[in-house]
Amino acid sequence: MPEVLKCPKCDANADVTKDGKWAHCASCNNIFQPSESPDMQGEGKKEEEK
Ligand SMILES: [Zn+2]
Repeated sequence: MPEVLKCPKCDANADVTKDGKWAHCASCNNIFQPSESPDMQGEGKKEEEK
């Protein structure tokens, strides 16, 4: 499935090139580099013991 990022400029969905080095926003035509570490978002606190 295609990887989708959010444009830092307009927050719209941006397409990532096949090599994953660049992302292109079709909304504002912005080209940017996706963050190198996909695990940047701090979602590690969702673990709860039951
Ligand atoms: Zn954009």
